[in-house]
Amino acid sequence: MAKKGGKIVIELKNVFKHYHMGENIVKAVDGISIQIEKGEFVAIMGPSGSGKSTAMNLVGSLDVPTKGHVFLDGEDISLLDESDLAQIRGKKIGFIFQSFNLIPNLTAKENVMIPMMFQGVGIFEREDVAEDLLKLVDLQDRADHYPNELSGGQRQRVAIARSLANDPEVILADEPTGNLDTKTGKMVMEFLEKLNRQGKTIIMVTHEPELAEGHADIIYSLLDGKVDKVVRRHHSEYSKSRNVRAKNGFTKIAKEKLKKLKYSEKK
Ligand code: ADP
Ligand code: MG
Repeated sequence: MAKKGGKIVIELKNVFKHYHMGENIVKAVDGISIQIEKGEFVAIMGPSGSGKSTAMNLVGSLDVPTKGHVFLDGEDISLLDESDLAQIRGKKIGFIFQSFNLIPNLTAKENVMIPMMFQGVGIFEREDVAEDLLKLVDLQDRADHYPNELSGGQRQRVAIARSLANDPEVILADEPTGNLDTKTGKMVMEFLEKLNRQGKTIIMVTHEPELAEGHADIIYSLLDGKVDKVVRRHHSEYSKSRNVRAKNGFTKIAKEKLKKLKYSEKK
């Protein structure tokens, strides 16, 4: 986990997203309040239809709530119009999707360049940054390949590079390993963790408890559009248990040494 400054990057304050479907109201998100600190690794879990994607879209300012407020860096984005919203999310948030969402007729490098175009970055800088980012995900030799010439894992690495294009504070990942085999998924998770250690805030939707438990500082479980359960993994406890393990290990070795010592003493 990255060092946290206690600064709130995203806050959902009593947020609702209701859809009117004829006579019925679908309560996709039904009163969620959460605060996400800078540098946190957050997992969102819950059964299908519990509101994960809707909540994620609200967090990522891809959508506005029907009621309540969403703050990004202290700014109430519930009040912005679509073009301001697009500008702000393009700068502050990187997205990674289950299905990669690369543009098929653009090369890996061109895909990574796209978000920078929307922020008005010049062509030469876009190329330079895209090349650097592809290097970062170890795909420099695939820069001119099209998505269909890449494996699933490679595509997701391109998507990760793209999510970093504008050096966002927050990375949203909706089931980032959902379409990957275990080994490739693990690599993607390791990469997210590395970014988190570098200070990026990561918010990840996942179906897999072991991914949430293995990587997240805090796990929100949703049910029927509400937060049903919050599990905070105290890192002090993490390190405590790590210390205990280390100590036990050491004690064992110490005991062995002691035994040997006693043995040699007897001799
Ligand atoms: P999850 O990602 O946890 O599977 P979603 O956030 O996609 O859940 O959906 C939550 C609920 O809201 C579901 O019942 C879904 O059918 C409904 N829903 C989501 N988006 C819309 C929409 N645009 N119009 C109507 N209902 C929607
Ligand atoms: Mg979903």
